[in-house]
Amino acid sequence: MDHFQLKNGEIYAEDVPLTRIAQEVASPVYIYSRATLERHARVFRDGLSKLDNPHLAFAIKANPNLAVLKIMANEGYGADVVSGGEMERALAAGMPPEDIIFSGVGKTQEEMRQGLRHNIGQFNIESEPEGEELASVAHAMGQQASATLRINPDVDAQTHAKISTGKAENKFGVAIDEAPAIFDRLASLDGMNLRGVAVHIGSQLGKLEPLETAFEKIGALIAQLRGNGHIITHVDLGGGLGVPHKEGEAYPSPMDYGDMIARVTKDWGVRLMFEPGRVIPANAGVLLTRVIRVKPAKINPFVIVDAAMNDLARPSLYDAFHDFAAVRPNGHKMMANIAGPVCETGDTFAMGREIDTVEAGDLAIFRTAGAYGATMASTYNSRPLVPEVMVDGDKYAIVANRIEPETILAAEQVPDWLD
Ligand SMILES: *Cc1c(COP(=O)(O)O)cnc(C)c1O
Repeated sequence: MDHFQLKNGEIYAEDVPLTRIAQEVASPVYIYSRATLERHARVFRDGLSKLDNPHLAFAIKANPNLAVLKIMANEGYGADVVSGGEMERALAAGMPPEDIIFSGVGKTQEEMRQGLRHNIGQFNIESEPEGEELASVAHAMGQQASATLRINPDVDAQTHAKISTGKAENKFGVAIDEAPAIFDRLASLDGMNLRGVAVHIGSQLGKLEPLETAFEKIGALIAQLRGNGHIITHVDLGGGLGVPHKEGEAYPSPMDYGDMIARVTKDWGVRLMFEPGRVIPANAGVLLTRVIRVKPAKINPFVIVDAAMNDLARPSLYDAFHDFAAVRPNGHKMMANIAGPVCETGDTFAMGREIDTVEAGDLAIFRTAGAYGATMASTYNSRPLVPEVMVDGDKYAIVANRIEPETILAAEQVPDWLD
């Protein structure tokens, strides 16, 4: 359930007609619903209610907008961050440092120091050399880094190849069969408080089975590590729950996910940690766009919209489907391709799709755009950086300004030897 619904013949975000935002802010623009974000944050938490005090860390790469993070902080979520920049955002949103987890294969020593200076809660180490560097950086600062070792369980998450992270050939984590030896070595280092393991096998998962298989392997590994004399107190089960992109698509609910986890982990005796991303903001956001013109073509006409792949990259990156709906549907349907103005064939949102009939000047939305949307935006083709709006009941606020090409141009300079 989301709060982008038709009322009196046009789509509203909560109680704000989208036509109003188009008039006042212009398009393209991302629009988030506070009520939907809060609802999804609570539904996810409720799904885990059978667990004892799970730690919830929002994977902020899914939507790092400060206002979104503020809502997540108010809902009691910490953050899973993958860069120093994301760490500063989480702190700026008021998330307590101890609720921040730092993931990613390429943490630099400077980023490690930054995390240690802020006393963040946990580093998820992705390799033996990274663990050695973290221990020596922490030791030099007179600190102990709380950490888990990220395990690559070699499980096929059955999702798009570019968002699959738990197969042996992926860059993430250490191979599960090598994990005990690496754990022994890292746990013995000064500066290191290695207290558990982490796993995250991929994103937009449509089935629970791959997760369950991965978690069972983690359970066996925990027993083995304990057998080797290690004290395991924290296990981070990552994120990855998928979301429906079309009416009627079935995805595992947070309740089913939580039940599976309660069953698989019942004897683990650890604090479980979670890094949900997409499942919270994806359907709490839409990208509002205006049709520039309809270009006739041999097979289907191209509906050319003012949003493009630089604003919403997922269709060009992952062949992702985003439902397209007219803001004021007239009841008719047409077969069309939907494309943006960028000079790339990949700047195509849909080919040969039945959509609401639209014509030049009409407003429309791409749904399910609240995750991995604005955060991936660029200024390719010297287009403005897309703005973001948060709706709350009958009011809204701009929560990220449109950054105009002039501002970006002003950050460039021509060296005098080119004059
Ligand atoms: C991206 C990511 C997540 C979140 O994934 P979603 O599919 O958006 O839930 C969680 N943990 C790690 C380590 C990630 O890289």
